[in-house]
Amino acid sequence: MRGVLVTKNDKDISATLQDIDEQQLPEGNVTVRVHWSSFNYKDVLAITGKMPVIRSYPMVPGIDLAGVVESSDDDRYQVGQEVLVTGYGIGEAHWGGYAELARVPGDWLVPLPEGLTMRQSMAIGTAGFTAMLCVMALERGGVTPDQGPILVTGAGGGVGSVAIGLLSKLGYEVAAVSGRPEAADYLKELGASEVLPRSEFSEAGKPLGKERWAAAVDVVGSHTLANICASTKYDGIVTACGLAGGMEFPATVAPFILRGVTLVGIDSVQCKQPRRSEAWQRLVEDLDLAKLETMTNEIQLDDVIETAKNWGQSDHRGRVVVAVQS
Ligand code: NDP
Repeated sequence: MRGVLVTKNDKDISATLQDIDEQQLPEGNVTVRVHWSSFNYKDVLAITGKMPVIRSYPMVPGIDLAGVVESSDDDRYQVGQEVLVTGYGIGEAHWGGYAELARVPGDWLVPLPEGLTMRQSMAIGTAGFTAMLCVMALERGGVTPDQGPILVTGAGGGVGSVAIGLLSKLGYEVAAVSGRPEAADYLKELGASEVLPRSEFSEAGKPLGKERWAAAVDVVGSHTLANICASTKYDGIVTACGLAGGMEFPATVAPFILRGVTLVGIDSVQCKQPRRSEAWQRLVEDLDLAKLETMTNEIQLDDVIETAKNWGQSDHRGRVVVAVQS
């Protein structure tokens, strides 16, 4: 099978597209012919070695995959069935989606939701699934559209773009935060009503500021997350799902103990059932597929390594799907 393999030699991490012996596929009771994968921030880290996300080498990266069951020892999955996998450590601890075949435990599979093609499911991918988990957390916290704007950071990226699309379709007013002023038209087309500069949030701020947001979806972390908490309205909900700006959280407890703000952590990787199925069902219902297409770019397996190396410098917006079969 053709695939991307990341290897480690002493401290040197390198990724190559090569023919891989199928006998090397990892343990699992379902083998999937992978048709589509996607590109996520974590895949960049895995391929470039910028952060140690890979836990054993050699590794086929790719934290998402969609394909057709090739063989199955799991009664729930039949040969020819369309399935997808996001998370569970694929592309990090278990071979992932950037190869023509994958083998996984049946427990990790999700039947392709009715109403989505395999390509669309990967246009959503881990990033879109995570955006949905954030929206569901706001809803669980009782946030409704009449309470005020929802702030979305890293708006031009995968999680941010899908979050804007979802929230605007659900009737929320969305304020987008982006470091790219030239992305403003794109973000407004997705449904943002205003676009704020990243610099407004990225420096150390006061423990409490003016109450502005009913809720927030934050992919940035660090000072940005602290400043968002400090400017969220009484009883508001802040979802933290990313670290694009840093892992640290230099905040005070003031927003939590004086305004009842709730900080909700979001993890897509080990997200349990039935929430996992619910999120996919909600994506079918609440994501405008025409908007999803406008935020999606397509690359081939041959382009994956170059895409990872250029990620920070390129002007990519939204989501990237990977066509795996040549
Ligand atoms: P992308 O690379 O697609 O988007 C990230 C966006 O963040 C960029 O497009 C940019 O948006 C903004 N950004 C980049 N660097 C910085 C910076 N230094 N400071 C502030 N903003 C920055 O990534 P994803 O959307 O796929 O993922 C976003 C984050 O969420 C990542 O940290 C990722 O690891 C995390 N994540 C977490 C998951 C979970 O389960 N918790 C699942 C999926 C992702 P703009 O140019 O518009 O400012």
